[in-house]
Amino acid sequence: MSSQQLSFKDQVVVVTGAGGGLGKVYALEYAKRGAKVVVNDLGGTLGGSGQNSKAADVVVDEIKSKYNGTAVANYDSVNENGANIIKTAIDNFGKIDILINNAGILRDVSFNKMSEKEFQAVIDVHLNGAFQLTHAAWPYMKAQKFGRIINTASPAGLFGNFGQANYSAAKLGLVGLAETLAKEGFKYNILVNSIAPLARSRMTENVLPPHILKQLGPEKIAPLVLFLTHHSTKVTNSIFELAAGFYGQIRWERSSGQIFNPNVNSFTPEAILNKWDAITDFNDKPFNKTQHPNQLSDYNDLITKAKKL
Ligand code: NAD
Repeated sequence: MSSQQLSFKDQVVVVTGAGGGLGKVYALEYAKRGAKVVVNDLGGTLGGSGQNSKAADVVVDEIKSKYNGTAVANYDSVNENGANIIKTAIDNFGKIDILINNAGILRDVSFNKMSEKEFQAVIDVHLNGAFQLTHAAWPYMKAQKFGRIINTASPAGLFGNFGQANYSAAKLGLVGLAETLAKEGFKYNILVNSIAPLARSRMTENVLPPHILKQLGPEKIAPLVLFLTHHSTKVTNSIFELAAGFYGQIRWERSSGQIFNPNVNSFTPEAILNKWDAITDFNDKPFNKTQHPNQLSDYNDLITKAKKL
């Protein structure tokens, strides 16, 4: 890929939760590069209560006054009226090219004390919100044979984090959603990726020390999001981890594993115990040589090998 300026002229972008934090930086960056942007934000608190149109309005005003760009505000909740956010793009700009599923809330509490309501509220905004928008955008992207979608996951979703059972479940759910959409969308040139960022925002300002926060500018996240959603990119079905100027990729890894004799008597807990080292060995090649799988395995190979035992 050449190093020419990546333009988003005439591209229509929806950024959810773009009234502040990461989403605001994305919206400004797309607009500066010529995109028409729907700036969605419910304008509530970090915990998801209340609403205020000011958050989205301020960003739209900045896009228009500072950058002479094109943007329209939308104040819907992603999980209550997600389809209407896509409709805002269609009504104002006639299409939808790029969708950044970014809106989010936190209800951090240790699992023992977490109520079902706290669990559900976080799943609703992150995961159901992404579903509603993507489901509404999908037919347009499919028909025009072009779409770029980013799901915002989190290191907490990939690795788990104390006090974030709701959030980490939602965030890994977004990765699974993206992986399936990448497969279903590929033949229509709809490319779907997940990012797991760490950045300074109201989500992190009270949990990380100031010297770390200083390095975590949200403007360090936007470049990868723009790159992944440019019409020239071919990247799909991938997960990226990024923070403070680091950009890397995360992938699954399969151990070498152990194939047991299909004789039913061989499938015992004791047999598992005896072969535990092989089952969990990451240093040797796995049964089908796919060490870093990104799709369902072809288990024919496994069955053939097992039959020979
Ligand atoms: P933020 O709180 O500044 O931004 C989230 C935005 O989403 C807010 O402006 C909020 O009003 C909006 N929002 C919340 N619920 C909404 C709803 N129902 N409908 C529409 N808008 C809604 O925080 P941020 O750090 O910029 O977070 C952006 C995304 O990045 C989130 O999905 C977050 O989980 C994710 N993330 C952030 C970090 C980080 O370090 N900041 C790390 C991992 C993942």
